[in-house]
Amino acid sequence: MNIDMGIRWMELFNEKIQNEKDYLTQLDTPIGDSDHGNNMSRGMAHVVKAIEEQKPETLNELLKLITTNLLSKVGGASGPLYGSAFMGMMKAETAGEEWAKILKTGLENIQMRGKAEQGDKTMVDVWIAVVEAVENGELTHELIDEAVEATKPLKAKKGRASYVGDRSIGHIDPGAYSSGLLFHTMLRAEAE
Ligand code: ADP
Ligand code: MG
Ligand code: MG
Repeated sequence: MNIDMGIRWMELFNEKIQNEKDYLTQLDTPIGDSDHGNNMSRGMAHVVKAIEEQKPETLNELLKLITTNLLSKVGGASGPLYGSAFMGMMKAETAGEEWAKILKTGLENIQMRGKAEQGDKTMVDVWIAVVEAVENGELTHELIDEAVEATKPLKAKKGRASYVGDRSIGHIDPGAYSSGLLFHTMLRAEAE
């Protein structure tokens, strides 16, 4: 990952989020409060606007800009969680860590904030699968899709979806789906 790739990543992620905004909202309807599409769409619109205005020149500046915008512009649970992820990534980048370790620190920060474990039917399920695959150099689009799809049969243990209990079973977790988009676009930006 480098600054040009990072900017491209955020542009591609923003495009995906805007295109799939309605689907994200649809996923957040049976097991949530129907705002995940709006939350992510607002946050990512601010991220790309801030990139255009501030023109970050290093990966560290970019990660900081993403953190600030996600923390301040995305409401709900997902804003603080994605914000924590990018804050952890920024700190690991400052410490000179490699990309796999940077992503792992992002995951650790999500878990520090939200206390979700693997199998709780949250974005953490996707982050765990992706971090492990990146560490082993085997991240693929298929693996991301499988990790997202694997949240479907689970019963939610964290976040709003946990309020509906057994009725959360049979639905993909919205945050897992948006994290899937994040990592699909990371792979695409890295391949360009
Ligand atoms: P809200 O639930 O506040 O309306 P969003 O709809 O934007 O926020 O985001 C919901 C997503 O946030 C869930 O689908 C889930 O992936 C994620 N989430 C919620 N709580 C947690 C948690 N404690 N740890 C990890 N992820 C969580
Ligand atoms: Mg919601
Ligand atoms: Mg909400």
